[in-house]
Amino acid sequence: MPAGGDPNPSASSADGGPQPRLEELLDTRHDPAYGEAVQVAPLVQRVTAANASPFTFAGTGTYIVGHKRVAVIDPGPDDAGHIEALLRALEGRTVTHICITHTHSDHSPASRALAEATGAPTLGFGPHPAVDAGRQVAEASAVQEEPGDWDFTPDGVLGHGDVVAGDGWTLECLYTPGHISNHLCFGLPEEQALFTGDHVMGWSSTIVPPPDGNLGDYLRSLELLISRGDRDEVYWPTHGPPITTPNRYARALLAHRHRRTDQILACLRDGPATISSMVARMYTTTPKVLHPAAALSVLAHLIHLAEEGKITWDPSADTRSATYALA
Ligand SMILES: [Zn+2]
Repeated sequence: MPAGGDPNPSASSADGGPQPRLEELLDTRHDPAYGEAVQVAPLVQRVTAANASPFTFAGTGTYIVGHKRVAVIDPGPDDAGHIEALLRALEGRTVTHICITHTHSDHSPASRALAEATGAPTLGFGPHPAVDAGRQVAEASAVQEEPGDWDFTPDGVLGHGDVVAGDGWTLECLYTPGHISNHLCFGLPEEQALFTGDHVMGWSSTIVPPPDGNLGDYLRSLELLISRGDRDEVYWPTHGPPITTPNRYARALLAHRHRRTDQILACLRDGPATISSMVARMYTTTPKVLHPAAALSVLAHLIHLAEEGKITWDPSADTRSATYALA
């Protein structure tokens, strides 16, 4: 069972609509073929790092886009074996751009070795966000996500709508905050493909860790992908297998979060509650080991509900012992 962003809900919540449930669409079948350059689409190769973990699934999938003059998306962790495999895959070719979806340590650190070896510029939304990591939240987040890559500064800054034009390929930038505030997705119109980084993954829902991770942003970033309709035929996440029914999948992710919000409001309608009591009530079929992840997810939802003016709590209290109530 994946230990990703929001553990699967208990089967108790009713869902009569035609929308498939997220649990039915999750896909964990995946051959990472560590160290090999696997041709996954006519313009796309993937080299996977052997950094498997509960956050990275089978490891970081670094994408090479193009034939002779290529872009590299998410060079990956600072891992000598992975960098060597990547450089081997790139032998005889020219890297013209190094693109970063975001600055977690499983995505951007290898950009430095790659830039040094190839001379290519690194491109991303910006450095790692300097957030006021509140005490308990920071503690909780630290065990729930990959650490930040504080050493990354892009040579070139990319924003929403920017286009990186290469030799036979184009990467269109979509600003998709939520998992982290500097997250980008990259569209490849030549293949109606979208590189989704950690914003949308097929094996698990995404961690949205407060305070920098923001559920309202995440939901808007999901709606942005959904609004693209059938423009995308496939999503290539940085971790795990491709998503071949992308719009349907993004809608299932959105419905999953709305269902979670409804569950929280239902809890609070019965009276003020703490996060741990809500987790115990909502995640009855989830193994206890995943309850810290569930608590972080509930906190992200509570912050979003407070932003919408629907709930209140004493912000000076420890988020774990605080009592949350309907506004
Ligand atoms: Zn990642």
